[in-house]
Amino acid sequence: RAAAGPQYLNGLNPEQRDAVVTLDGPVLVLAGAGTGKTRVLTTRIAHILSQGRARPHEILSVTFTNKAAREMKLRLGQMLGQAVEGMPWLGTFHSIGGRILRIHAELVQLKSNFTVLDVDDQVRLLKQLLQAENIDDKRWPARMLAGLIDGWKNRGLTPGQVPAGEAAMFGNGKGGKLYASYQERLKILNAADFGDLLLENIRLFRENPDVLRQYQNRFKFILVDEYQDTNVAQYLWLRLLSQAPSRPGAPLSAIIPGATEPSVIPGRTDSPVIPGHAEGVNLESRAGEDSLRDSGSALSAHPGMTASAAAAPAAPLKNICCVGDDDQSIYGWRGAEVDNILRFEHDFPGAKVIRLERNYRSTGHILAAASHLIAHNEGRLGKTLRTEDVDGEKVTVTGSWDSEEEARAIGEEIEELQRAGENLNEVAILVRASFQMREFEDRFVTLGLPYRVIGGPRFYERAEIRDALAYLRTINSPADDLAFERIINVPKRGLGDATVQMLHDHARKRRIPLFEAARAVVETDELKPKARGSLRELVAQFDRWRAHREVTSHTELAEIVLDESGYTEMWQKDRSADAAGRLDNLKELVRSMEEFENLQGFLEHISLVMDRDGGAEDEAASLMTLHSAKGLEFDNVFLPGWEEGLFPSQRTLDEQGRAGLEEERRLAHVGLTRARRRAKLYFATNRRIHGTWSTTIPSRFLDELPAANVEITESKGGSGWGGSSGYGPSRFDNVESFGSSYSTPGWQRAQANRNRGQGGRGQARGGFEESQSPFSGSRSDTSGSRSD
Ligand code: ATP
Ligand code: MG
Repeated sequence: RAAAGPQYLNGLNPEQRDAVVTLDGPVLVLAGAGTGKTRVLTTRIAHILSQGRARPHEILSVTFTNKAAREMKLRLGQMLGQAVEGMPWLGTFHSIGGRILRIHAELVQLKSNFTVLDVDDQVRLLKQLLQAENIDDKRWPARMLAGLIDGWKNRGLTPGQVPAGEAAMFGNGKGGKLYASYQERLKILNAADFGDLLLENIRLFRENPDVLRQYQNRFKFILVDEYQDTNVAQYLWLRLLSQAPSRPGAPLSAIIPGATEPSVIPGRTDSPVIPGHAEGVNLESRAGEDSLRDSGSALSAHPGMTASAAAAPAAPLKNICCVGDDDQSIYGWRGAEVDNILRFEHDFPGAKVIRLERNYRSTGHILAAASHLIAHNEGRLGKTLRTEDVDGEKVTVTGSWDSEEEARAIGEEIEELQRAGENLNEVAILVRASFQMREFEDRFVTLGLPYRVIGGPRFYERAEIRDALAYLRTINSPADDLAFERIINVPKRGLGDATVQMLHDHARKRRIPLFEAARAVVETDELKPKARGSLRELVAQFDRWRAHREVTSHTELAEIVLDESGYTEMWQKDRSADAAGRLDNLKELVRSMEEFENLQGFLEHISLVMDRDGGAEDEAASLMTLHSAKGLEFDNVFLPGWEEGLFPSQRTLDEQGRAGLEEERRLAHVGLTRARRRAKLYFATNRRIHGTWSTTIPSRFLDELPAANVEITESKGGSGWGGSSGYGPSRFDNVESFGSSYSTPGWQRAQANRNRGQGGRGQARGGFEESQSPFSGSRSDTSGSRSD
């Protein structure tokens, strides 16, 4: 039946269409991967506009990444077939929060041209504050404080609202005070950090009801993608905006239930805040969040609200449409609360909940594998997903001897796809940890295979890698001023800007490299004794390292340098969330040097890699972490590193409870569901993690895949099965028997053949009931299959 109505509605299924055209009141689309949630959102915007229900600037649409926002704009333009006059407010929480904040900066003690600090700036500033408070930053690292503050901001807590117990945890009870003085310093510097873009926006709304009202009036429609990954601050911000505008002049309590008028926290005169404890608004604890929600959802019943609600006949909560999937919640570690999506109906009374069940993205085998995997999680709503697509190719699992072979195998398979006419833009390699990227980048450079890294710097562009390289470059070439300057005071050696400036002057006057200037200056008394001593030591160290170079291998030299310079130690002492990842990257760097004959050769390779400017090619394979792949799709998806300890990560294996592991499984599910036509999984039997080689066990997630949809293939990377890994049933067998299956590669072949024979077409359509895992077979099963 030809669909009536506007063109953009054609092809939508009835549920999708329902979600698009239900414009009034709250709507939640709770549905699995690839069911068209994002497409529904985009179409909904088109519908709102073409129906004349709102002008572009009256629509607020929140996406998870800027890339997604750009994509949505593009699609929208295509759908409407004409340039839309003006654009909806389309972006991430932070970009939109920042945009609003700039308009009203004065109200939160900033100027509209305020700077947004990055993490490094933030840490530098916190260090100064620690010093001023005489807090030992070895015991209480600034990065740890940065992490705490970030966590508080994610939970929507201003300094006055941090629970006393938590605030006392840092710096001998000074955590809360430091947070407050940090916020004050930011104002003096006319700066905001990332978290402020939202938190200060919330404060702006809370303290200025008229401003809030202005935005409540403006945004007639609110749309949110990936709602399962919103944190408390984002939730609060949305709630404020999603309420119907109150009467002008209505008391603040009409907008924020339980709030009294602004008052001033004792001891702070610069920023009036709403104390969070009157009646309902109590942000002091997890329980407090709930009480806020409860009071929020009881909003329509609030005395302050009834009058305005009565004035406006419509529901007090306006047209908000959130879409998400509880099975794709992967940011719990960053404060996201999957609870937000599970409580939507409670928070937005009268909400219409729409479920979509048809997956339009993946072929049968891929969808069945992903659905079967995620069914192993306990904490989930559970949902049906079906596809009308062909079964397509089975999900492949390939074992390699080590990570290098894995990279080689993937490189070859990509080249093969390319020869078969596939577009590289439809190829993605999704890794669990960023250190895994290095091997692929090197491989792709060697092959001349265009690639881009999405959602983060390329391996050799990471700060810690650049620092380490700067040491090596300075050793290799004493005239490399840029390199020397980069690390002269990293880690801190008391050689600040003034010293560097002085060295520059000296170098310029004498026309010598910075390093030689340093050598000369330490012989004079131009520097204060402390700086001079420190610089002399550094020069001596470099001389020593250069002498070492003659007698030790370049990898050993790198280890010595990172160790003796205090650089590794700097990160070891650092307790921020990303420190461990940086240490892994450093180890990966040293490991990558093994592939070169000497330091010179290695550095030449680096300059080649760095020279390729990323993203310039029209057609390139995408390399990214699983986390940044959310919402994206590709014809061909490569998923390397499915091993216990890497994926799921060791951290979640060490943890008590299942929460971390279940989040890892959701991440695996996100990875698989990115694929349209081919999903290829890999594991290596040997991998170097945290600098040491270990024999690994295939990921339990491989065990959890349904046999009927999986095919075990041979590595194209080199040794293949014969000399390669054993693919043992990790979940059911102990390591020893895993080892023995290692010595009987015939097993896997037999197993692979058996799986091939199993066809299992019926199971592909979302059928993930009882299919047997190819890897859950017992040992007797194994020998049985060998005989066929
Ligand atoms: P994810 O949970 O991974 O973010 P999603 O639910 O947002 O997935 P979309 O990205 O919107 O899913 O859609 C997945 C793919 O299916 C897209 O290529 C989209 O264009 C296509 N698609 C969605 N709905 C339809 C439809 N009714 N007809 C044809 N294709 C569709
Ligand atoms: Mg989506």
